[in-house]
Amino acid sequence: MNYAETETLSRKMKDAGYQQVSFNGVADYYVINSCSVTESANKKSRQAIRAAHRRNPNASIIVVGCYAQLKSKEISAIEGVALVLGVKEKFNIVERIREFEEKHAVMSCVSAISEVESFSPSFSCSERTRAFLKVQDGCNYRCSYCTIPLARGKSRNPSIASLVEQAEEIAACGVKEIVLSGINIGDFGQSTGETFIDLLRALDKVSGIERYRISSIEPNLLTTEVIDFVAHSRAFMPHFHIPLQCGCDEVLRLMRRRYNTDFFRKKIEEVHSKIPDAFIGMDVMVGSMGETDEYFRKSYNFIESLGISFVHVFTYSEREQTDALKIKPHVQESVRTARSVELHALSEKMHQDFYKKFDGQIRPVLFETKTKDGLYVGFTDNYIRVQAKIPYNARNQIIAVELQYKDGCMYGVIHNV
Ligand code: SF4
Repeated sequence: MNYAETETLSRKMKDAGYQQVSFNGVADYYVINSCSVTESANKKSRQAIRAAHRRNPNASIIVVGCYAQLKSKEISAIEGVALVLGVKEKFNIVERIREFEEKHAVMSCVSAISEVESFSPSFSCSERTRAFLKVQDGCNYRCSYCTIPLARGKSRNPSIASLVEQAEEIAACGVKEIVLSGINIGDFGQSTGETFIDLLRALDKVSGIERYRISSIEPNLLTTEVIDFVAHSRAFMPHFHIPLQCGCDEVLRLMRRRYNTDFFRKKIEEVHSKIPDAFIGMDVMVGSMGETDEYFRKSYNFIESLGISFVHVFTYSEREQTDALKIKPHVQESVRTARSVELHALSEKMHQDFYKKFDGQIRPVLFETKTKDGLYVGFTDNYIRVQAKIPYNARNQIIAVELQYKDGCMYGVIHNV
């Protein structure tokens, strides 16, 4: 999501006559699109600000994004920061820079999140093989640990027609794959009364786009209709990312998630039965408030039993203004780290088991890059990373390869070249 927005900011500035240079180079303006999903994300944003200031102490640093929305005062005080733009103001970056150039004083433009209602279209297009298209923003849920609704505002979306136009624009750039991005994308339709499934149906018809992936969808919004559609659609890949957060009902209740483990298991079984080769990833947060040793063990065993492909492990961090802060017991940092290590190891095993299942199969790969060793790298429809030696330019081409698993990696072999 931030990637789509960063690219959009970059296009706006280039259209206004600014020249883009590498972030590691010397620039007059550095724009940092900050994240605030965890405390470590805040820290990384502060490090990026300081690094930019070191690179060119005379530069003006512009900080936008969730951290800017939530902590504008803190950010304005960091040396080198010239402009802090909240969620509502960030896409007016060019106008705000002009204002800054006239006044030449630190400016903080951050509206109250309750005032943020507009949707700013965003997509990335520069990578030439895969684009990120923002289809929804904000969230109406209130998970007890999460600050995103405070940083991003209410759930909102543009019309399906405008998203189809953006997908056509992306196709015209020669990009073959689009990742649908948002904060809670299954909640699509709050602004327009349209539905997520109708969005998928409309996008599936855009010619030139050969592949779509749904970045992440809440389990309670992954309907049977959506699963059936993905199973039979032209271009939606057999790939789901479903945030579980914890595999223990007691903790899910404390988190105020809208499902229990029984519901989640049935959802995974439904995907497995209808799309047996699907890649299923999920997010899990470890060490959240109230996660006792017993609850963590329950969660671990539940995750292990699901037979999914990958776990994206997050370590809980306290976020200001969240209800989770009132929950007891707090989990010690060292315990959080130990749980994260344990779950990462489980995820690695699941990932490898998933890869091994496809050894010897022929699957289509969209090749994206070429390594220094001369191997092309890309992903299958079901998100297996494949490296292959190909004697012609395979970049941005979908090629059927025979998969060969070796030492934790998947290689692709092309026949009849
Ligand atoms: S669904 Fe929950 S975790 Fe996700 S953005 Fe909304 S409040 Fe946060």
